[in-house]
Amino acid sequence: MLPEALRPLGDLARNLRWSWHPDTQEVFRAVDPDLWMSTGGDPLQMLFQVSPERLDVLARDRRFVRNLELVRNDLTEYLTGERWYQTWAANNAQAPEAIGYFSAEFGISKVLPQYSGGLGILAGDHLKAASDLGVPLIGVGLLYHHGYFIQSLNTSGWQQERYPLLDPNELPITLLTDADGSPVMIKIDVQGLLVHAQLWVASVGRVPLVLMDTNLEINNERERLITDKLYGGGTDHRLAQEVLLGIGGVRAIREFCRVTGHALPTVFHANEGHAVFMGLERIRERMINENETFDSAVEQVRAGMLFTTHTPVPAGIDRFGMDQVRSQFASFAPLPIDRILGLGAENFPGGDPSRFNMAVMGLRLSQRANGVSELHGEVSRQMFQPLWPGFDVSEVPIGSVTNGVHGHTWMHPELQKILESPLDDAEGILDGWDWNALDRVDDTDIWTLKRQMRGQMISMARERLAASAAARGMTSDWVATALNPHTLTIGFARRGASYKRLTLMLSQPDRLKALLNDPETPIQIVIAGKAHPADDIGKGLIQEMVQFADQEDVRGKIVFLPDYDISLAKPLYPGCDVWLNNPLRPLEACGTSGMKAAMNMAFNLSIRDGWWDEWYDPEYGWAIPSMELLGNQAERDAAEAEALYELIEREIVPMFYTRDANGIPLAWVAMMRSTLSGLGPKVRATRMVRDYVTEYYAPSAASAARVADNGTAEELAAWKQKVRAAWPGVEVVRVESRLPETVEVGSSHVIEATVRLNGLAPADVAVELVSGEVDATDELRNVQISRFELAAGSDPAAESVLFTLTDVSKAAGLIGYTVRVVPDNPLLASMAEMGLAAVAE
Ligand SMILES: *Cc1c(COP(=O)(O)O)cnc(C)c1O
Repeated sequence: MLPEALRPLGDLARNLRWSWHPDTQEVFRAVDPDLWMSTGGDPLQMLFQVSPERLDVLARDRRFVRNLELVRNDLTEYLTGERWYQTWAANNAQAPEAIGYFSAEFGISKVLPQYSGGLGILAGDHLKAASDLGVPLIGVGLLYHHGYFIQSLNTSGWQQERYPLLDPNELPITLLTDADGSPVMIKIDVQGLLVHAQLWVASVGRVPLVLMDTNLEINNERERLITDKLYGGGTDHRLAQEVLLGIGGVRAIREFCRVTGHALPTVFHANEGHAVFMGLERIRERMINENETFDSAVEQVRAGMLFTTHTPVPAGIDRFGMDQVRSQFASFAPLPIDRILGLGAENFPGGDPSRFNMAVMGLRLSQRANGVSELHGEVSRQMFQPLWPGFDVSEVPIGSVTNGVHGHTWMHPELQKILESPLDDAEGILDGWDWNALDRVDDTDIWTLKRQMRGQMISMARERLAASAAARGMTSDWVATALNPHTLTIGFARRGASYKRLTLMLSQPDRLKALLNDPETPIQIVIAGKAHPADDIGKGLIQEMVQFADQEDVRGKIVFLPDYDISLAKPLYPGCDVWLNNPLRPLEACGTSGMKAAMNMAFNLSIRDGWWDEWYDPEYGWAIPSMELLGNQAERDAAEAEALYELIEREIVPMFYTRDANGIPLAWVAMMRSTLSGLGPKVRATRMVRDYVTEYYAPSAASAARVADNGTAEELAAWKQKVRAAWPGVEVVRVESRLPETVEVGSSHVIEATVRLNGLAPADVAVELVSGEVDATDELRNVQISRFELAAGSDPAAESVLFTLTDVSKAAGLIGYTVRVVPDNPLLASMAEMGLAAVAE
């Protein structure tokens, strides 16, 4: 029990905002500096362990108490004040009152290890940035008893996994209870069994994160193990977890809102396919509570649902057996099981009829969907094009929001201090940071700061290397001099997935050794990453890397740091000068580690994949050419590795070691300035969350509100049914006064199209001219879509209806075109939405 004067410590420890708020961390450090160190900077653990005597002293320490009150008041102001969203919403009638954000993992802080890698860190950064902006998000996920594994290495460098058991009572989460103190429970049917889950709430600044937990006495052994660990076990286990996340998640949000009085979400965001069963539960609610039909409920749910896909490879998509899903949802009344199965069916060319595809269900149940970088949006449109037959890849209704990273979490605190601005947002100042602040800092100070960052990273690395050497039974005398704070430092850290090509840099070992051992201009490399426990290939790559680094002639110059997690990552990015990423393009959907590096004035040395394809600029780093056209993977690896070495040898090393009289690398420092001012504001997660709000959340809320209007969902469902039924008979019968093959800019042409509407009204469709320049491969480029109008005097009820269009060419040269009919309704978010198009022969 804390003394009265120190009560605010408990409030501060139970809101995870401390994890990105240096002033709050300082308060905790002052409580007991030794304990702060020994708990690894975990406020709650520290409060459990601190002695009553120490607390007594602090309670009487006027300076400590006054400062504590200041910091507590700052939290209150952060939690209750008006932020960006409140101002924005005041001018946007459709701003949602709440948004449900579902994710299988959340990486918020090392003290809540509920993530495995990039997806989780992104979800954590999304919540934090939403909190900073005042966006009313409610996060939903699972509470894993074991979190993700802790990685260590054996003597031969093979990855070892350990799953420490977490005690929820010692985590910064609070059990959700009713007014009488009893835990709030949700119940769900998992494979025919009634499973109970209790709900824990983590406070991520202003954003509540509700975590479901089945580790309860009332459940049997198998049911308890549903939330044992992230992505553990076989597909039955995984299906159970996803049913809990999706179906349970909706119930958990309802309960949370009932107990706390929080507004209910009108927009539901599925972060990756794991969560999309949420759509089924929302359909069920509407069928039962509002007495709606399945189709009408689908329209209602779709309008307010957003699906974000994170993988550019079909193999990365979550799929279950049809039979597995059939038995799970056989008695999910009143939803007809065949309709459920239809949502995830791969009934398109190349699909597998025995599989239930979570991404496909996500796309069918969400009126809006996005990838996580522009390139990934393109790749996703290509990958899912079979769901929209008749439409060009560019028309597939999947957009993109490029990921971002949470500045307060990932930028070095000293650099944050330099950027912090008391001024309102204006040119160059955004969300409280002045991105041009380095203009007022001289080169020497910037360079000194970078050396300090390198030094801090090296202290962390040496501690970890010493512990790892001891655990592997190896000598550790070399650790004290491992890495050098003055040496050009290259970082590489990521999951051990094979497309990330951890060992590409080893392809010419002697050349790499020469770079590491150069007496005048050496480089050093810091590496980290975990392989999935079931991925022996990934573990083999890690072993190859560790064995290379174990060699005496490079030891301490290239190092592998075990157990890549948030606490390792935070000092790692600032400590690097160059961040290396060499995935097989285009398999990196976005990648965020390079963004965190850029935010700390490190340069990217990367294949132009994910976000780097979009924002690469020679001012911010180097592009390793991607040899996608080389069919053979070995050749491609060799060529890309060659280019990588060349860039390091010819450009990076000379630039880093070219110094002025004071020892400052002027060109390098100039690039540090441009990287921070140019990339910083783009890669920040507040930019990402704003994009989600304006491009997705608000339009979704508007769509949901429109179909919620008195019977509109039902009308829309009936209209879609009518259109689908009529569609096989809809046809472009004839197109007249065809365009000439080559045209002049500005020339105009009248085109007439005769269309058979098969009982539909002209207003049910759009007749469109799709035109563009024909390229060498006969594909249309710079596609333009123009709309025909009903011809004057044409009888809309006739068997064939005449439409006309006066087309004014915007480009000259060889043009190609088609005429098509597509369904049209103001409630559709895109012309391609229904995947129906009747194209002229
Ligand atoms: C940022 C981060 C990742 C994701 O990095 P990618 O570049 O997207 O692979 C994974 N793990 C940790 C600990 C991170 O901080």
